[in-house]
Amino acid sequence: MKILVHICCAPDALYFLKRLREDHPKAHIVGFFYDPNIHPYEEYKLRLVETERACKELGIELYEGEYDLEGWLHAVRGYEEEPERGRRCALCFDHRLQRSLEFAREVGANYMTTTLLMSPKKEMSMLKESGQKLCEGKGIVFLSPDYRKGNGTQEMFKLSRSLEFYHQDYCGCLYGLFKQKKDPIQWDLLSFGGRRPASKEELLFIKEVRYFAESIGLRCKEWEFSFLNWKLLQGKVEVGGKTLPSFVRPFSQSIRGVLKADPSEVVGNTIYYNKGGLKVVLVDSLRDEPLSKITGLCEPTFIVPVSYRDLLLENRIVATLQTHMGVDKSSLLLIGSLQASEILGLPADTLQDGRGLSFEYLKNLLLEKLDSIKGEELALLLIGAYSLGNPGRTYFEERVGRRVKTLHHPYSHTP
Ligand code: SF4
Repeated sequence: MKILVHICCAPDALYFLKRLREDHPKAHIVGFFYDPNIHPYEEYKLRLVETERACKELGIELYEGEYDLEGWLHAVRGYEEEPERGRRCALCFDHRLQRSLEFAREVGANYMTTTLLMSPKKEMSMLKESGQKLCEGKGIVFLSPDYRKGNGTQEMFKLSRSLEFYHQDYCGCLYGLFKQKKDPIQWDLLSFGGRRPASKEELLFIKEVRYFAESIGLRCKEWEFSFLNWKLLQGKVEVGGKTLPSFVRPFSQSIRGVLKADPSEVVGNTIYYNKGGLKVVLVDSLRDEPLSKITGLCEPTFIVPVSYRDLLLENRIVATLQTHMGVDKSSLLLIGSLQASEILGLPADTLQDGRGLSFEYLKNLLLEKLDSIKGEELALLLIGAYSLGNPGRTYFEERVGRRVKTLHHPYSHTP
């Protein structure tokens, strides 16, 4: 008996595969992650890397299907406005299961099923109908076990949480996302470049590092913490129609509309303007620097190379700035033991200029320090939102009562 299991995400897969293996102890189970319905791509990668971790945990081989976004969009075209559990979802199931069926035949499976059956928000009858219809006459039997019943859903959440798997908070596609989340800004669909605090990119990095660390036999533990996040949506300073290279100081407030202002005072390396509390800080070389602590909201502050000093002092400035502040969640990953003699904190995020630790750097560091980490001389703490005053370090030190040693220049070991 060979069963091809279409997999949609790690939490569903973990429990479903465990139960499936209990029911079919002699079966050869193969996992297939085929989900081009997941948007954006970073979310897809996040669910994939967690599925890889779940399959590794269970010792199940996993294959990744194509991310054919266009094919999926084409398959549901005309049904974008449908509610969840409506016609678009039926087409989405057909699309994913049709490709899974082809793959089942490629690997010689004689049974097929899907972890979508585990998902509490999916209509079991729709999935069953789709799978049975597609498999009919193809020499493959579609299995549709109901592992949700008898507390299965609660057990699934419990198991997944105990192993610290990522839990998505929307089904997957952009059409469902707009309906499920009422937020006027769809943060899930925005990409900030690099790995900005609390972004999907930052969490994906943490999960990828965890996957690697566990694959070389290191134990890991994660915590999630809340903090006041600051996001830059857009910012620009112009003089005489020319845009100057600049960064925005974190926690700068937005400017309403367009601000035209004249320099009124220079104190040290800072030019103060006559309107809107606008400031320009002149620096020798344009680099973003991490905040050592959160000092609260500040006036709109741009950082500009000192070579533009004269131009700025002799002309009117035109500035636009849109930022967002709100409570967000980021993560901490401890690699090694909490009892280790020393805990070294490293940033998981990147600065506005893209500087930050690369995956390669961390991989090499883990290999180099493997014995000290296993021997509890050292543990590494990968810290999200480090660049915004390092609130994760404060959270960790209070939460577990251990001090974290941090690097003097945490973003200097850059790719
Ligand atoms: S809501 Fe979910 S099941 Fe429905 S179309 Fe979107 S991704 Fe597919």
